Amino acid sequence: MGWETIRKDRPPRTAPNLGDYDKECARFTWAKARAALQGLPGGRGLNIAHEAVDRHAASPRATAAALRCVGRDDSVTCVTYEELARSTARFANVLCGLGVGPGDRVVTLLGRCPELYTVVLGTLKNTSVVCPLFSAFGPDPVAQRLTLSEARVLVTTADLYRRKVAARRDGLTCLSHVLIVGGGAEELPGTLSLAALMAGADDTFTIASTSPQDMALLHFTSGTTGTPKGAVHVHEAAVAHYATALYALDLHQDDVFWCTADPGWVTGMSYGIVAPLMHGVTVVVDEGDYDARRWYRILAEQRVGVWYTAPTALRMLMRTTPRTGPYDLPRSYDLSTLRFISSVGEPLNPEAVVWGRDVLGLPVHDNWWQTETGAIMIANFAACDIRPGSMGRPLPGVEATVLRRGEDGRAEVREGRVSVLEEPDVEGELALRPGWPSMFRGYLHDEPRTAAAFADGWYLTGDLVRRDADGWYWFVGRADDVIKSAGHLVGPFEVESALMEHPAVAESGVIGRPDPVAGNIVKAFVTLRPGYEATAQTRQELLAFARRRLGPAVAPREIAFDQHLPHTRSGKVMRRLLRARELGLPEGDVSTVEDSSQDGEGFSRDRTER
Ligand code: ATP
Ligand code: MG
Repeated sequence: MGWETIRKDRPPRTAPNLGDYDKECARFTWAKARAALQGLPGGRGLNIAHEAVDRHAASPRATAAALRCVGRDDSVTCVTYEELARSTARFANVLCGLGVGPGDRVVTLLGRCPELYTVVLGTLKNTSVVCPLFSAFGPDPVAQRLTLSEARVLVTTADLYRRKVAARRDGLTCLSHVLIVGGGAEELPGTLSLAALMAGADDTFTIASTSPQDMALLHFTSGTTGTPKGAVHVHEAAVAHYATALYALDLHQDDVFWCTADPGWVTGMSYGIVAPLMHGVTVVVDEGDYDARRWYRILAEQRVGVWYTAPTALRMLMRTTPRTGPYDLPRSYDLSTLRFISSVGEPLNPEAVVWGRDVLGLPVHDNWWQTETGAIMIANFAACDIRPGSMGRPLPGVEATVLRRGEDGRAEVREGRVSVLEEPDVEGELALRPGWPSMFRGYLHDEPRTAAAFADGWYLTGDLVRRDADGWYWFVGRADDVIKSAGHLVGPFEVESALMEHPAVAESGVIGRPDPVAGNIVKAFVTLRPGYEATAQTRQELLAFARRRLGPAVAPREIAFDQHLPHTRSGKVMRRLLRARELGLPEGDVSTVEDSSQDGEGFSRDRTER
């Protein structure tokens, strides 16, 4: 790509800082990481809620703010660790009172609100299983996931229940209880008021013995490539949450940390709730809409130290302030407490990293993981220099490799054996050696799909990468998205990143369109920045620009303008859908497509442009 390495001038706060990457990796074991956790009193096992809440409530951190909730009206409500310990105990007692026990699924369909934290952590205290759903899902995906998860309890609001669940309630045979957050339960038959139940519940609770292998979380994947899968995670995942938050997010006890991911997704749960609370930090909870000004204001007013967000969010900020300037908007906020921005979920275009350095004066750290991996696996570390466009290096304790591809783009498996690519800079499928604590224990009730994710002692991620000679990993694309054009393999991300460097381009999605000569030709869908027009001239200019950057074999042959690229509700460009639409094919499972006509909190609804 030709970007030079960005050198760090702000060191992380304290060791371990991975300043010496190799030494730290050699020193690290998961057993040592486990020792940083307290465990349940009396050696009764390991429970996420104890590590995230109760251990702090019994320490000098008790009166520190665990949550700082910024309401839509900008009001700020603080919840201390002590208060969170009591409310979660109450909720665990509520569940007990309803006959809900270990392993039972408690599904949340809630936006970001203080009650969500109580429900999630209270459920874990009760050794029941949390299954978060994204509140902007429509009735069908909600019903589908309630059925798949065998939900016993649903916690939601009156409005969401009325619109998304009530009509299908009879078909949900496992669902015993619906608890309503806020008012309105009285008018809804078959529901109970959470507040009323909480008021009658005791605020002390002894967590039962919890095996580290007990199921704790059930997470549905984003559905970018097909039907959502329910990934099962266990309490032991906490070990990985803790360690990764230290290495990749540099979290320390008196930090203020903000993760913008919705708690309906794995990032919002693992790094919006569990990991930061385990570190005893103050977590910012923003109930408001996505909006560049609001974000800058919260970062400044709440004195945020580390911000964990997604490329789509960064691209939104980039739309309001191009790298060519002027920088008035971000410069009007005091972001001096912010140490770095971390990004996950889809490829982080190098342009975004350079933009962060030039416009905000901040490092932007890409990191990679999946619903299945349960925690960050590959990252740009707090202490290390950044290579823009690279996801970084594997975390200590994570053994990653690149496997030779077969015809279909996935790792080639011959008689049960895979072939590891030792030489650098060759594209292949990213694979991980099972054994890290937050690895999913399977897709719920889907043994064939679970088995298909493993071969020859490796977990196959479905993502294509290359590793450079120094061991840094570079994302190429999802195996399903990669384009074969005239004998070349083209990663959509590389093309999208090059287009992003043009000032007219706000975002793009790149697919392969079948072609009798080339097999496929590269086609780009481009969202323009305000002020640029979708004319033949702009198209010509972009085609020529991409050709100069990428060469004729990789550059797009066609460009279409599209101000509404389809996104998943977690903010990823859905190339699968772009391709299906282009080819007039069935759209497949679209339950996770963001629908801007709904009340969702989709990333593409950029308030700053209204
Ligand atoms: P599904 O598995 O249902 O198709 P999904 O893979 O999008 O959905 P998630 O588990 O939420 O569901 O996302 C993980 C995927 O997101 C990764 O496999 C990868 O393709 C992409 N991803 C995550 N982080 C990064 C990153 N830093 N760079 C590039 N891609 C990333
Ligand atoms: Mg996936």
